[in-house]
Amino acid sequence: MENESTTPSRQTAGRPVSELEARERELLRVNRALATLTRATEALIRASDEQHLLNEICRILVEVGGYAFAWVGYVQHDDDCSIWPVARFGSDNGFLGDVRLSWGKDEKDGGPIGRAIATAQPQLTHVDAQDVSPWREAVRKHGFFATMALPLEVDGSVIGILGLYANAPAPFDTDEQLLMEKLARNVAWGIGMQRMQFERRRAAQELKESEGRYRSLVELSPDAIVVHTQGIIIFSNTAADRLFRASAGKTLVGKRMTDLMHAKDPSRPHPHLEAEGIPEGLVEERLRRLDGDPFIAEVTAASIIFHGVHARQVVIRDITERKQVQAQLVQSAKLATLGEMAAGMAHELSQPINIIRMAADGTLLMINRGKASAEYQEKQFGLIAAQASRMAEIIDHIRIFSRKDTGAVTVFDARDSVRLAVELMESQLQADDIAVVLRRSQAPCPVRGRPVQLEQVIINLLANAQDAIKSALELPDSPPGSGRIRVDVALPTPGTLGITVTDNGTGIGPQSLDRIFEPFFTTKDVGNGTGLGLSVSFGIISAMGGRLEARDILPRGARFTITLPLVSETACDSLPSDPVPTPQMSPRHHILLVDDEPQAIDAMSDYLCEFGYRVSRAYSGNAAFRLFESDPADIVVTDIRMPDGDGEELVRRLRQRSPVLPIVVVTGHMGATEHIEDDVSNALTILKKPISLATMTKTIEHLLHTV
Ligand code: ADP
Repeated sequence: MENESTTPSRQTAGRPVSELEARERELLRVNRALATLTRATEALIRASDEQHLLNEICRILVEVGGYAFAWVGYVQHDDDCSIWPVARFGSDNGFLGDVRLSWGKDEKDGGPIGRAIATAQPQLTHVDAQDVSPWREAVRKHGFFATMALPLEVDGSVIGILGLYANAPAPFDTDEQLLMEKLARNVAWGIGMQRMQFERRRAAQELKESEGRYRSLVELSPDAIVVHTQGIIIFSNTAADRLFRASAGKTLVGKRMTDLMHAKDPSRPHPHLEAEGIPEGLVEERLRRLDGDPFIAEVTAASIIFHGVHARQVVIRDITERKQVQAQLVQSAKLATLGEMAAGMAHELSQPINIIRMAADGTLLMINRGKASAEYQEKQFGLIAAQASRMAEIIDHIRIFSRKDTGAVTVFDARDSVRLAVELMESQLQADDIAVVLRRSQAPCPVRGRPVQLEQVIINLLANAQDAIKSALELPDSPPGSGRIRVDVALPTPGTLGITVTDNGTGIGPQSLDRIFEPFFTTKDVGNGTGLGLSVSFGIISAMGGRLEARDILPRGARFTITLPLVSETACDSLPSDPVPTPQMSPRHHILLVDDEPQAIDAMSDYLCEFGYRVSRAYSGNAAFRLFESDPADIVVTDIRMPDGDGEELVRRLRQRSPVLPIVVVTGHMGATEHIEDDVSNALTILKKPISLATMTKTIEHLLHTV
């Protein structure tokens, strides 16, 4: 730093003055300084913004104060510690452009300006003829006699300087200096005030803008929003007025929150709608419009300050439509399942039709031959009637299953739904060589819900297990005929029902396990899977207060577990016991009839006996083969799908025993006999159910006489 004097000099540049002259000048300067201070104070009071204030101050300092040049520079917190001129008045003769303006700590060129900022003290520079410091040189060069740098301190830190430049001799004596220091303090205070007011205006503007944003957000919101205090509505947005059907041109303001609650639930607390301080969250409520029309809504609420008042803001979303869509989704998933089950159902129905047709044919024949005793006719028509009711039952079941579930929630025995589902899927699973084993708890399993929906869940699980097993069977290391599904209905812990469906299919795999309950997630080809089954099932079980979980099992396969709460009411039907068939023999050609349907065998047997055949009966493939070994038949008529050794296997074994034995396969599943037809084409006849007994007899006669 150069060596300027910091005390005011009584000498002008090189010229001594008389005492009187000096006093006059001093008085004049002090007067001017006072006038400057007064005008500056007025400017401070009138100032509307910071820049305007600074411009005014500089102008007053030159025009009233008589200085040649005045400027204000603001400190910049940049790498160069620069000072930016922000206001100026008068002529600096290029001074500011020629000197380096900086306030850096070890700034040499900053001179008195830098020092004033660094020390927060005024700095006075008088040009002295003997002094040759660069700063004084610069001042002198630009035609000034003295300069004064006054720090501007706002809130305890120097934000800039006020620079004064005099081109008249002997300026800045003590009084003038003190007045200018006071002026600088006033200017700094004015700057602080302007900034404070600016901040206030900005905050007010921001508040206004954010209120505007909030208002337009609330107004544009598709959800109904109401604000209430003590249960009286003090604000409602357009969506709320529309949702609750406020009269034209009116709002909900002034109504009570209880006016929006469902009349049937007056006693039920509606914490989200009424009280304050309730934890926030989403709840489903039954509400009503002002005209009384009820609807279901999702409601969430929060405590807020509204226009200075403690209030509660309630957001209401009408979910009636979503509920309907969910119900439709359940329905579409059910219909999709039915579509997939169509083949199996056709088989279910073809069985009783077949029996009816055969029983009717047999009875007609006996009547024609005058042999139909009243007793015989009664038995046959009883058989027909029983089969007709069985068909009606199947059709009823499908009808109930496909029907839209509008019925009330009831208490029912879960074992029945599981049994019905397994029965409905059984033939379809058997057609794919998949054995299904059902193990049910002996104790009743009362649960609350809709029986058909639980049935739908089990059918979905069985259908998925079937697909997974079919895919697994296509794998190279898969042993043939190894498809297995086990359904267990048990009571794992008191008060809890557990239903598990376990398969030995492909398994789900870790990548899919997290996603299988998502709607529309499917790994199946287009047209084979909708991806709805599990998400709908999950929804059904959750609505029953239970859980649906999935996991993979070893060595291969998947297990789905349904856990449901048991209810105390009991409503249990016991399963009808399986019919026990009795074999029967008769003379002439020996025919072995194999079918797991005793009635089908009865009808065929009666008819064939009438033609003089000796008939043996077997109710499974294995039993038929044993019977054939001990008492060989001339012809075998067999069903395909049977427990304990199916028809396909029986045909192969019989063909090995006797290459020419005539075999008639009666099946409801066309396509299921492709393998046998490939393996055993010789002396093999395939008949499709339903089949008339006359056709069957003709076929038998033809085979017996041609082979
Ligand atoms: P979809 O059967 O129409 O694909 P789901 O929602 O019923 O729809 O099933 C979703 C997916 O879950 C299936 O695509 C399949 O990848 C997987 N999945 C379901 N059940 C099983 C199972 N038993 N074994 C293996 N994967 C399964």
